[in-house]
Amino acid sequence: MSVGLWGTTPGTARAHAGVDRRSFVQIVTMAAASIGLGESAAAKMVEAVARGTKPSVIWLHFQECTGCTESLLRTSHPGIAELILDLVSLDYHETLLAAAGHQAEKCLKDAMEANAGKYVLVVEGAIPEKDGGVYCMIGGRTAIDMLNDVASKAGAVIAIGSCASWGGIPSAPPNPTGATGAPMILKGKTVVTLPGCPANPYIFLGTALQYVALGKLPEIDELGRPKFAYGRTIHEHCPRRAHFDAGRFANQFGDEGHRLGHCLYKLGCKGPATHANCSTLHFGEVTDAWPIGLGHPCFGCTEQKLAFKVPLHDTVDIERPTPPDTYPAVGAPQGKAGAIAAGVAGLAAGAALGAGYRFAKAHETKQPPAGESGGGES
Ligand code: SF4
Repeated sequence: MSVGLWGTTPGTARAHAGVDRRSFVQIVTMAAASIGLGESAAAKMVEAVARGTKPSVIWLHFQECTGCTESLLRTSHPGIAELILDLVSLDYHETLLAAAGHQAEKCLKDAMEANAGKYVLVVEGAIPEKDGGVYCMIGGRTAIDMLNDVASKAGAVIAIGSCASWGGIPSAPPNPTGATGAPMILKGKTVVTLPGCPANPYIFLGTALQYVALGKLPEIDELGRPKFAYGRTIHEHCPRRAHFDAGRFANQFGDEGHRLGHCLYKLGCKGPATHANCSTLHFGEVTDAWPIGLGHPCFGCTEQKLAFKVPLHDTVDIERPTPPDTYPAVGAPQGKAGAIAAGVAGLAAGAALGAGYRFAKAHETKQPPAGESGGGES
């Protein structure tokens, strides 16, 4: 018998969640909305989870701080972290696993065999290549060996966070261990990258649920990043953008411009060259819980060319100094599609919550998902 997460045996973790039907529907809808999918896609996700077809997830940790896992677990509303963990079948996760040693190794082997070709492999952390990869070894195997082995039987591979996407902090100059990202090791294999330090958990959740409910991964760019989340720069959706356009800047921390919430470009904001949706999908379900929302310049944590390389207070070139051509002209008909239906990158957290609430209201009389009464699998 394998030992599951938190010391539970498989089949008992769903009772741990303790969330009601409305919360369940809300969070699935938020996950769908955060990746630009509408209510019908959310409904399919709800149905898939209700049927018990949760994505089997094997989560590997390499060189990292566990911040992406912490971000997933440290939500502000009680029950949501448990619910997130309940939406996927997290069959192996070195941080959360109660087992250790050979028992843990058996968990990994069992999970790979039980769901070969179907499980989602999530990689958190960079992989050191220097000196044969000896700087990160688990159970006697190098990170390179483990990654190649587990990826060979995975249905989908997701690199969560900047470390797994392109090397992150461990790869900062002089990069003593030769740290790199999962796509650089798994050459020729599709790897969805979710850079960020940490990555937003809803981006991960939406990506994994889309894979299991709709059978496909989101559209990605040349760096493996889902376009729904990384198609635009922070600057293009920044709440301080009006100040930038009007030439109102903070010149130093604590000055009048800073206190008034003016643009942080002159303090080194990397938003004009950083592809991410933090400006619209904040962290921990707390409004303004992201660097610029708290008065700090964007650090460019998603960008390999910026993060941990360009000094914090250096200014950057502005990637698209004018709005994209795809923006409708002022006064042009906008059509009926709302933010969610349009699938725009980055939705306001409030809008997503609102969508979740509306959808929950519409579906709250339906049957609860399998296992809400304590059944199901861990
Ligand atoms: Fe926002 Fe930074 Fe752009 Fe200013 S420079 S509008 S703070 S993203």
